[in-house]
Amino acid sequence: MSEDIVVVGGGAGGLELAIKLARKFKRRTDKNVTLIDCNPTHIWKPLLHEIATGSLNSNHDETSYLMLARKYQFAFVLGRVNRIDGASACVHIEASLDENNQEIVAARTVSYTRLVLCVGSLCNDFGTPGVEEHCLLLDTRAQAERFHQQFLNQLHRIHADENEGRRLSLVIVGAGATGVELAADLHNVAKQLPEYGFKAFSSDRLRVMIVEAGPRILAQLPQRVSASVTRELQKIGVEIKIDTMVSAIESDAVKTKSGQDISADLVVWAAGIKAPGFIANSGLPTDNIGRVSVNECLQVEGSKTMYALGDCCACPMEDGSVVPPRAQSAHQMAARVYKNILADLSGKPLTAFKYKDFGSLISLSEFSTVGNLMGNLMRGTVFVEGWLARLFYLSLYRMHQSAVHGFGAMLLIMLGDSIYKATRADIKLH
Ligand SMILES: Cc1cc2nc3c(=O)[nH]c(=O)nc-3n(C[C@H](O)[C@H](O)[C@H](O)COP(=O)(O)OP(=O)(O)OC[C@H]3O[C@@H](n4cnc5c(N)ncnc54)[C@H](O)[C@@H]3O)c2cc1C
Repeated sequence: MSEDIVVVGGGAGGLELAIKLARKFKRRTDKNVTLIDCNPTHIWKPLLHEIATGSLNSNHDETSYLMLARKYQFAFVLGRVNRIDGASACVHIEASLDENNQEIVAARTVSYTRLVLCVGSLCNDFGTPGVEEHCLLLDTRAQAERFHQQFLNQLHRIHADENEGRRLSLVIVGAGATGVELAADLHNVAKQLPEYGFKAFSSDRLRVMIVEAGPRILAQLPQRVSASVTRELQKIGVEIKIDTMVSAIESDAVKTKSGQDISADLVVWAAGIKAPGFIANSGLPTDNIGRVSVNECLQVEGSKTMYALGDCCACPMEDGSVVPPRAQSAHQMAARVYKNILADLSGKPLTAFKYKDFGSLISLSEFSTVGNLMGNLMRGTVFVEGWLARLFYLSLYRMHQSAVHGFGAMLLIMLGDSIYKATRADIKLH
């Protein structure tokens, strides 16, 4: 019987897995690998805040799934999955529509013998009124590009009213890695704007405030990292409001539970995560934020043929918590699911996934990089900052590129990037 392995979601984890499987089964006609994604190109999600500010040009950094499918010999299906039917072993893909709502491709199904869900996560607004209408999000490339356009519109508006001395006020709700890295990158872009014709603009014309409900920023990271990043952000000029619960968002202000009105030209919601709703709607077992529950071997609870990895799954750890939603988790889980699928296909027992926390690094754009490294080599946790931290941070993306393109191609991409940088503007202003 032929084996049809379907991977849904070609992000940090799913793409690496699909490529590993396709390489393994390249010469096997009885083993087919299919990747489904709702976008035609892959962009590594931790770069989205750089696309939003213009530090990164998404057109330069994207990779076509069809190009990868041709290279590694897997099938690629462009479409948004909206239901999993475990009983019939198929996934449902919604109809694709053009900008006038005309159907391009009708709704369809793809059958599987083994399915891996890797659809990532979305921001969680916790039902806060006004978020959907007034907030910018950073879950997808389209949202990052929308942010970029609105940011540019505001810059042009301020530039045109130069004499009024108005400030651009940006509020970021949520002080996780996304919010913190975005705040620093915005200031880095603002610093360069006068060189690009926005003569009256400077960092002091940009007001970035991070609003956080908890008692400190980067609550998931060690206290020392949080304290150091707080100091760096304050040095740059980012305002930080902790212990402040947001109660509603309006078109020009953020309202807090304590009754404050914080005026804002743009509001970014970067607090909390949840899994895409179709997982729970398909009747799969989920936790309270819709992540599919998996056993220690990353199989969906109650299923022998369905796996899940990355942000969209709730994988239990020995201490009772779940594996954190990070790119390194998705990467490690992809490696484990790959081995478990091979073991399963040859009738061998599966192995439990053990998450290894190698630490976390926070990039404050050109200002600094701060974090902690963990592992056997470090003999515990080592606090790092400055160029060494930057080097480790940059190597994370290069490792992902190496997994996707191969080591040699990654080196060529690095060379191409440096040529690109030398010949283009440092920031994208269109
Ligand atoms: C701005 C930002 C900065 C971050 N920085 C860091 C960092 O520095 N370090 C770190 O470890 N983590 C970071 N993260 C978190 C990290 O990006 C995620 O943990 C990681 O990408 C999760 O990988 P994944 O494979 O589970 O999902 P993703 O990488 O999100 O991929 C999900 C894929 O599924 C596709 N998809 C979704 N729904 C559907 C559907 N219904 N049908 C078909 N396809 C679908 C998407 O198009 C996407 O390609 C950051 C996140 C953001 C937003």
